[in-house]
Amino acid sequence: MVNIDHQTDSPPMRDESLFYLFSPVTRIKGLGDATAQALVRLLPAATAQSGGGLPIIRDLLFHVPINIVNREFTCPLLEAPDGVVGTFIVRIDAHHAPTGYRGKRPYKVSCSNDTGHITLVFFNASGEYIKQNLPIGGERVISGRLEHFDHHLQMTHPDIIATVDKYEDVKKPEAVYPLTIGLSSKRIGKYVDTAIEKLPALPEWIATEWIQHNKWPDWKTALQTAHHPQCEDELSPLSPARSRLAYDEMLANQLHLAMLRRNKHQQTGEIIKGTGKLTQQLIETLPFKLTGGQYEVLAEIHTDMQSGKRMGRLLQGDVGSGKTIIALLAMLRVAEQGLQSALMIPTEIIAQQHYETIRKLTAPFGVNVALLTGSIKGKAREAVLDGIATGATTILIGTHALFQEHVQFKQLAFVVIDEQHRFGVAQRMALTNKGNTPHLLHMTATPIPRSLTMTLYGDMDASTLKEKPAERLPITTRVIPLSRYNDIMERMKDVLEKGEKIYWICPLIEEKIIEGELEITPESDIAAAETRFIEFKERFGPIVGLVHGRMKNDQRDIEMRRFASGETRLLVATTVVEVGVDVRDATIIVIEQAERFGLSQLHQLRGRVGRGSKPSFCVLLASDRASEISQARLKTLRESEDGFHIAEADLQIRGGGDLLGHRQSGLPKFIFMDLLEHHQLLEHAKTDASQFLQADPNLVSERGKSLQRLLQLFA
Ligand code: ADP
Ligand code: MG
Repeated sequence: MVNIDHQTDSPPMRDESLFYLFSPVTRIKGLGDATAQALVRLLPAATAQSGGGLPIIRDLLFHVPINIVNREFTCPLLEAPDGVVGTFIVRIDAHHAPTGYRGKRPYKVSCSNDTGHITLVFFNASGEYIKQNLPIGGERVISGRLEHFDHHLQMTHPDIIATVDKYEDVKKPEAVYPLTIGLSSKRIGKYVDTAIEKLPALPEWIATEWIQHNKWPDWKTALQTAHHPQCEDELSPLSPARSRLAYDEMLANQLHLAMLRRNKHQQTGEIIKGTGKLTQQLIETLPFKLTGGQYEVLAEIHTDMQSGKRMGRLLQGDVGSGKTIIALLAMLRVAEQGLQSALMIPTEIIAQQHYETIRKLTAPFGVNVALLTGSIKGKAREAVLDGIATGATTILIGTHALFQEHVQFKQLAFVVIDEQHRFGVAQRMALTNKGNTPHLLHMTATPIPRSLTMTLYGDMDASTLKEKPAERLPITTRVIPLSRYNDIMERMKDVLEKGEKIYWICPLIEEKIIEGELEITPESDIAAAETRFIEFKERFGPIVGLVHGRMKNDQRDIEMRRFASGETRLLVATTVVEVGVDVRDATIIVIEQAERFGLSQLHQLRGRVGRGSKPSFCVLLASDRASEISQARLKTLRESEDGFHIAEADLQIRGGGDLLGHRQSGLPKFIFMDLLEHHQLLEHAKTDASQFLQADPNLVSERGKSLQRLLQLFA
């Protein structure tokens, strides 16, 4: 293999020492096709380049045990307790093959030693097999779960039957892996051992002092230890071996992000000063005053944009904190200089809404705003594309369709991404790589804990909008059991008669991200919404509306408008209304099966109300059997309106993976790292990575080269 100079643009070739790790699992001696297929169900399949659809050895080695079975226990057979796993040396006294054909009678083997008797019980077993392995008169080690049946001690299907010389081996703790059909923990363990034996020792990539300080083993030993836990403590993410592996992962992650950040800072960016004309006009026409926080963020953005470097900034701001206006003012600043901006939004419905709002606000100053989504086709699309290409359009708003190849800008200088958490790091990078280097502003309404910000957005500078626009009344949140459905109907009737507007959110829809665009799937949830819609129409009459993800866009748009205008006042909706939709006089939101939503997601939904000056309510309808955890989560929500606090609490209760709700998090998948347990290590990894890069930006020192290997290992 040729080594490519690391200075070139293409990623460096994989180091030879990693070839084995990146080979398909079938490279492991003795691992056949059937096992490989079973492993496909258990592990991620490799990308076409290396594994041919099969998992790679690295992923098998990263699949670590989740439990151990302790076989150390032994006792006099007469005193054996029920339900415990134990290991014994016994003499085989007699075989009792099943007779007759009535039902499935087991094959029984009577055994004993000086301390008592035990019967081994086998269902559907081959008599031959049993006779061979448990010959009458012989002695064997047996290990398995003990039970009593009719006052007789027995062991059904011993886990282990071995010759007496294996006694000590059998008593060793046994690793238990997450499994799938066709694989046992023992088999996985065997293949893992074979693979580890083949591994080259890799030069250390962690700083010596840090290894010593933590008393961590080297990488290969750590892997080995992780696969052979001897006690419960060794399963803990804080055990030396697992901490080390987690640190490797964090270090790779932080190094990667630090490199992205550095590259971004090295890129030049258009210097945007603007004239202040359009922005000033807009500020004067707004029906409200910008908050101090909004001014601060704007100032940060302007500083970035004038620096000559490319901006990469994350704007975190709770629901309703007024991010859109910041984006718009920044885009106008760009327009003042005759350059183009794009605002990218995850769903069509919100893209349309932003388009309307922004068009209305900017029309008086002659700013040309256009909308581009997947459903704009034919002539209309051509017209939009034309406007973008000629530069007639200065602000483009749209979904991810915006960034398909044939969208050519005349001079794109600024890209804003709204509701960032729906786009993963990879998509962000795809954007970053798009030809010229526009300034980037990422806005997220999901306040996330610091540790997550670091892993998700470590490639960016961050701004936070803490303050909410003034004169907002708090939202009263209630958790109500579903059994009180009828009471709620009564209350809704009263409230609707008073002219209020209500959102009714139906249970969570499974969401899929396809090529960056949010797709909303299963029919069943839509069916639930349709059923509610029909029911409510009968109950409350024509003031009931319905929106869901399967509706045609224009249809959904019409429905949203009817709700906004007051033609309908009870809107049954699936989570399409989750983000961004702005109907200021809606005062009540009812969320069905609230326990199925992520906390942060609930918080966002709640943010649909409380946007005007009237007091608002959020009703969390929880099924009566909602688990304790769900109850605790809902309580958090009831007690706090601070998105950051809620996010932290959600992390505490559920751990990181689930934080942002079902399948929409865009969170990188961590193998060893546990956001809760390892956050201090993560801090260290961050510092470590950025300090090292400062000293050795091209990773050419000894440790630098090892770190390159680490990056490849986790690539
Ligand atoms: P988000 O941060 O959730 O995207 P929006 O930008 O949609 O919030 O703002 C929510 C609502 O608050 C909008 O109707 C917007 O016009 C309004 N708003 C924004 N800034 C202020 C402000 N400084 N004072 C009063 N209302 C504001
Ligand atoms: Mg918004």
